[in-house]
Amino acid sequence: MSAPTVSTEILRTLHRLHRQLTDLRERLARGPKQIAAAESNLAARQSLLEKAKAEEKAFRMHLDAKQLQLKTSEARIGEFQIKRNAAQSNREYQTFTEQIGAAEMANSVLEDEILEAMEKAQEYKDKIAQAEAELAAARQKLDEIRAKVAEQEPRLTADMTRLEAELKRAEEDLPPEIRDPYRRVVKHLGEDALAPLENQYCGGCNQQITLNVYSQIMMNQPAFCKTCGRLLYQKEGK
Ligand SMILES: [Zn+2]
Repeated sequence: MSAPTVSTEILRTLHRLHRQLTDLRERLARGPKQIAAAESNLAARQSLLEKAKAEEKAFRMHLDAKQLQLKTSEARIGEFQIKRNAAQSNREYQTFTEQIGAAEMANSVLEDEILEAMEKAQEYKDKIAQAEAELAAARQKLDEIRAKVAEQEPRLTADMTRLEAELKRAEEDLPPEIRDPYRRVVKHLGEDALAPLENQYCGGCNQQITLNVYSQIMMNQPAFCKTCGRLLYQKEGK
């Protein structure tokens, strides 16, 4: 029984198809990954906007509380003034004057605080506006990526189907004796199931092949690298 042979051309084609299919699979997998990344960026922007809004709200409530405190204090000063006007004695008059003075002093501190806070109000508003702009940009980016992936996917899938059929046809040209070992190495190494011969070295693992394997390849007999298991073939131009 003579040893089976396989043309170098078929092995080269098989290797090329495996590499192209791997590339297509990676490109197909990239789409959903890019979408997921853009979605998580959008979610992050959303929560930053919510945080900015919550901070602005807390700030506004704090400011409102201070303004209410000032108003209440001013009303009390008014009451003190009425009571002072109705004072029955110097001592009473003096007491109200002191209370009014103390309240006015406290109010002046409060007014400074309110003014200072009002200057900061714009910063909070700006932060919200910035977060809104970033959220809008993230949403647009996600839409763009989704559209791009939706546009590319059918083409990549069609290419996959076409190449898979081509691969199947090419595999039918393999001698039946090596189909099982070939499938095992494909399952194990994927696109690296084949390797060109580099002089007398395996192009996959760079180990020197035996003379026996070398002569098999020269006679177009299918041979696997004894070190890494790749199906070897002659390099172009050899
Ligand atoms: Zn090898």
